[in-house]
This record gives sequence, C-alpha cells and structure tokens, in this order.
Amino acid sequence: MLSTWIDFLATRVGFFVAMCLVCLGTLAAGAGFHRAASGIQDTQVALENHRSAKANAALSDLLRLTIILHDARLVGHVSPEIGAEFSAALDIIHVRAEHIRTRLERFGKDDPAHAVVERKVYVQASGEAAVAALLAVTRGGDAAIASGFADLDKVSGDTLGLTTEARRAVYQYIDETGRLEEQLEIRHSAALISLARWTWVFLGAITLAGAGCLHLFRREVLGRKQRERAESRAEYLAYFDTLTGVPNRVQFQDRVTSALSMGSPASILLIDIDNFKEINDRMGHAMADAVLKEIGHRVRTEAEASGGFVARSGGDEFAVFLPRENPVLLERMCRALIEECARPVSKGGDTVHPGVSIGAASSTMVGVTTLPKYEMIMRIADFALYAAKLAGRGCHTIYDKELEQRFIDRKSMIEDLPDAIKAHELEVYLQPKVDIATAQVFGFEALVRWRRNGGIVPPVELIKVAEESGLILDLDRYMLDRATSLMSDWNRRHRTGFSISVNLSALHLLQGDAMNAVPEVLSRYGLPPDLLTLEITETVQLDNWDRVSQALSVLRQTGCRIAIDDFGTGYSSLAYLRAISADELKIDKSLVAEIETSTDAQVILEAVCKLAGSLKMDVVVEGIERESQARLLLEMDFVHGQGFLYGRPRPAADWLADVTYGPSRDADDGEVLPGRPRQTVSA
Ligand code: C2E
Ligand code: CA
Ligand code: CA
Repeated sequence: MLSTWIDFLATRVGFFVAMCLVCLGTLAAGAGFHRAASGIQDTQVALENHRSAKANAALSDLLRLTIILHDARLVGHVSPEIGAEFSAALDIIHVRAEHIRTRLERFGKDDPAHAVVERKVYVQASGEAAVAALLAVTRGGDAAIASGFADLDKVSGDTLGLTTEARRAVYQYIDETGRLEEQLEIRHSAALISLARWTWVFLGAITLAGAGCLHLFRREVLGRKQRERAESRAEYLAYFDTLTGVPNRVQFQDRVTSALSMGSPASILLIDIDNFKEINDRMGHAMADAVLKEIGHRVRTEAEASGGFVARSGGDEFAVFLPRENPVLLERMCRALIEECARPVSKGGDTVHPGVSIGAASSTMVGVTTLPKYEMIMRIADFALYAAKLAGRGCHTIYDKELEQRFIDRKSMIEDLPDAIKAHELEVYLQPKVDIATAQVFGFEALVRWRRNGGIVPPVELIKVAEESGLILDLDRYMLDRATSLMSDWNRRHRTGFSISVNLSALHLLQGDAMNAVPEVLSRYGLPPDLLTLEITETVQLDNWDRVSQALSVLRQTGCRIAIDDFGTGYSSLAYLRAISADELKIDKSLVAEIETSTDAQVILEAVCKLAGSLKMDVVVEGIERESQARLLLEMDFVHGQGFLYGRPRPAADWLADVTYGPSRDADDGEVLPGRPRQTVSA
C-alpha cells in the first residue's frame, strides 16, 4: 500500500500533486502563524493600554487628600503648609484624571481587542465615570481653597464625600479593567496555543515532506546501485564465460580486432580439448566442468606469461591471442600448452588425463582478403585446428602455404558441392556385407564418392566439409535415393533380396524434416523396408537425446533397420547404445585391427558381442582384412562382417555385375523375398 503511494509520488502527476499539497500545507501553516502572532500582538497592545492607566495611583492620591483633611480637622484650622499640601494633592488628582481620560480616548480609538467589545464599553463607561468623579473632587477642593476653608467642617465634609464617590468610581473602573485584562489574558494564551498548534502542524508537514523526500532519495540511490550492479553483471555475462571465468568470444573478438587495427603483431591459437564428449559421458558433467575450468586456468596462465590473453570460444574450445608472429615462438608455445594441459585433473577421487589439439595462425599468413582480418585469422586457425585433429590427438598445426592450399580446396569444395549433387556427379560405391563363415554376400553398404579435378575426394574429408556446411543433409538424401533405387531395381530384375545400408549423419536426427525422405524413397522404389538399413554415426555431438530417440522411433515405424555405426570409437560409446534402440551394431575397424595383438581388443569385442546378443542386435564387424582376423572373429561367434577381405568399395555397377546369384524368389507369387539370398561373390 505504502509503496504504491511512493510509486505514485515518483510519477510526474504524483510529484505535481505532492508539491501542491506541500505548498497548501505551508501556506495554511503560514496563515495560522500569522493569525496567532497578530492575536498575541493585539492582546499585548491592549494590555499595555490598560495597565498603564495608573488608576491605582489615583486611589492613593485620594487617600492622601483625605488624610490632609483629617489632619486639618484635628488641628481645627488650615495652616498655610496644609493648604499648600492640599492644593498639591488636588493638582495630582487632576493630572491622574487627565491621564485616565487620554488613555480612554486612545483606548476607544486604536485598541485592537475587538473580540471583547462588550467589556470595552464597560471599561469606557466606568473610566469616564471615574474621570468625572476625580474632576468633581478637584473642583470641590478648589472651591474650598477659594472660601479660605471658612467653614472647615462643611468644607472637609463635602470634599470627603466627593473623595469617597471618586474612590468608588475608580474602584469600579479598576474592576472593569481587571476583567478586561482577564479576557485579554485568555485570548493571549489561546493565541499562544494556536501558535503552538500551527507550529506542530508545520513541523509535521515538514517532517512528512522530508521523510518522503528522504525515502525517494534512498530509493533513487538504491535503484541506481542496483542498476549499476545489474549493468556490471550484464557486462560480465556479455564479456566473460561464467564457468571458467575467462573472457568469452565477444570480448576476444573486440580485443583482437582493436589489436589488429593498431597494427600490432598477432597470432591466434585455437585449443580444442580431445575427447571432451567422452569425458562428459563417462565421468559426468561435474568432472567435465572441472576439466574445462582447469584447462582454462592453465591456458590463461601460459597466455598471460607471454603477454597474450585467452577466451573460451566454444563448448570445449579456447582461443589464445599472442602479440607476436615468430613461427619458432608459436611452435614453442603450442608445445608448452599441449604439455601443460596434459597434466592430470582430479576431482572427487576421480582423475582424468586430458589432452588438447591446437591450430595456430598469425596475421602475416592471412594474405589478401575481402573478409575482416579477425574473421580470416580465426578461419585459418580453425582450419589448422581441423588439420591438427586429423593428424591425431594431442597434435598441433601451424597454418602454412600447404595448408592454405588445402584451405582453398576446401572452400571451393563447399562452393561446388551443391552443384555436384544437383548434377548427379556423386557416385554410389558399394561394399559387400557378408556371412563371415561362408563369405556369402547378403547386402551392401553404399559409400559416397566424388570425382573431382581428376581424383576422388577422400570421403572422410568430403563428409566433414558437408557436415560443417550443412550440405550433408542434401548429400545423404541423394545417396539414400540413389542407393535405394539401385538396389530395388537390381533385386526386382534379378529376383534377389540384397539389403542396402545407407549412411546418415546424426544431424538428420536433429533436423526432423529429412526423415520424410525415408518413407518416400521406400514407397517410390518399392524396396521392402527391412532391406534398408540406416547407419548412424555420431559425428556431431548429440545433446538432445529426447529429440534423437523420437526421430529414430519415427524412422523405425517405416519398418527400416537402424544401425549404430563405428561402435568402439570415441563417439559411439556405451552411453549412445543405452540411449538408442537399434537393430544393428557395426564394430569399428580400429578394434578389428588390434584383434590379433591386443587382448584388450579381444575382451572388448567379446563383451560387445554378448551385450549386443542380450539387446537382440545384429553385429557386423567392419574392417576385416585378413583370413586370420576372420577366423578369430568366427571363434568369438561373430556372424556378419565387412572388409577388404571380402571386397573394397567399388562402383555399384561393377559390384552388381560381379555378384553370382541363384534364384531366390517365391515360386507362387513371383515376389522378391526379403532376407538373405544365397549368393557368393568373387572379391
Ligand atoms: P564407414 O561408414 O565406417 O564406412 C566404412 C569405411 O571403412 C569406408 O571408408 C570403407 O572404405 C572403409 N573400409 C571398409 N573395409 C575396410 C577395411 O578392411 N580396412 C580399412 N582400412 N578400411 C575399410 P570410406 O568409404 O572412406 O568412408 C569413410 C566414412 O565416410 C564412412 O565410414 C562414413 O562414415 C562416411 N560416409 C561415406 N559415405 C557416406 C554417405 O553417403 N553419407 C554419410 N553421412 N557418410 C558417409
Ligand atoms: Ca557406415
Ligand atoms: Ca563404420
């Protein structure tokens, strides 16, 4: 309630109303003061008028005259001394009478005691009566003196009679004056009380206005402080990363841009934490956060020691600015950072051995560009980082001419890819999937190939570029369409039931509309849905698991199969297996490569085989290159495989021409039978 009023006061209208009220209050108090003060003054003037009338003195003068007459009567005559005294007393009484008269005249004219008019009339009347009586005494006395006090008894009797009359009149006058004084005293104290009341009113109004002002002032000060705090917090959030406390990308860009504009030497190092996703999945968010904080701290210390600064530029990426361009120094810095960041990080009893990859570039390497310099250095540093990651974990790459060429190639690749897809320049290569025991082909995996500038673009690079540029969605849709059409056509013409596996980037699972393509191609080409397998590789970080599993269940409703690709690599972990329900598990070739030498690899393979069995998943082992590997896998009860041993990826037409097949069609209705045909291939 109170705060509503205060809020109202703070508005323009509220302030105006409050000002008016304060002015009115002050005016009213001022008027009250004025009235009370003039009341006090009036009564004081009136009192002054009456008190100085000296009526009491007249009484003693009359008494003195009486005593003189008594003395004369005792002696029996009036001696010259007594006569002189008598005459003097008469003079004084005359003066008193005149004095009272003048007072009365003034009293009638300018006495401001208006409220007591009634008493004023009485005072006037009694005063005039007293003056008349006193003058009568003087007149009587003068007559006695003129008679030479011949008949002393008569003269003194008459004079004493007049004196008694005069005393009564004076008493009456004094009485009336006393009453008037009382009235005036009452009025005086009423005026004083009114003054005190108005003083309180005024003080109250001033106190209220002051308290209101103080409150508004306090609110203003607190509000400003709060605003300042909020502003500095917002500024912090806008310029710093809250988790690691190091500057964020925005601040980094500002500072680097201004350093570049001043022509300062500049190098940028992009630092990416290796296997960060795995740390997150296996050790939990708290540990992952601790790693980020610790790496942030270490990188910052190293960067600042070299006169540079650091920022967190992405999820698990840091960027360092160094005010130098010497390649030797850059090299040294990269090594120092990799070594420093490799020290273990411990939290809550767990320990992680992190590693980082670094891409570095300096402004001298930028060359001529239409892009802002900052953006260009970031791009080439990013490309160097990408190259470092391709080289393996814990590596660093400094951008140079060779990389620059690759960078340019990559750029033109991104530019050409959309047209290549439209112009059907991408080719479908097939690699067979076989029963390990018999080497019989039951299906194929479709792999993309792009013939460009007289060579074939390495698929891993193509896919990475396509994923980064978002073109992967078109590329995969194209491959899905081509491969399904091809296999369906082949099966129909030869009455076989080969299955086809198509690779789908996990990006599709996050961008739903691509899913529509699957039922569309199935119905367009009439391939039985269970002959289509979608191999999903988690090449991008999947955080939104709800979305992913929702997308997968939509896909499975079409009746096609889902395979988890590259199981056993950094990305496709057990966490992935738990979150996704799939029909097939493809074991990555890196595990098979070690099967003969590493007991660890064997233990993992056996465990995965059991796990997949319990989850009722079909297992396909990739990368089988030698008979010895195939034999070991058979001993471990693996059934299906894929690898150079059975055939390299080759153009679809080549493969399909080579497949020797036998009839596999239903004798009754002539339909193609889904499932595994009994064909063998000559690889
Ligand atoms: P992937 O899906 O794991 O495909 C198998 C890769 O292993 C193929 O590489 C294949 O040539 C290779 N490979 C097969 N057998 C052996 C073997 O015995 N030894 C060795 N060392 N390698 C073997 P490729 O064709 O270079 O493709 C690389 C990756 O590119 C694929 O790995 C897949 O993830 C991706 N990819 C290829 N085509 C497509 C596509 O159309 N869409 C998407 N999204 N990704 C694709
Ligand atoms: Ca695959
Ligand atoms: Ca694979």
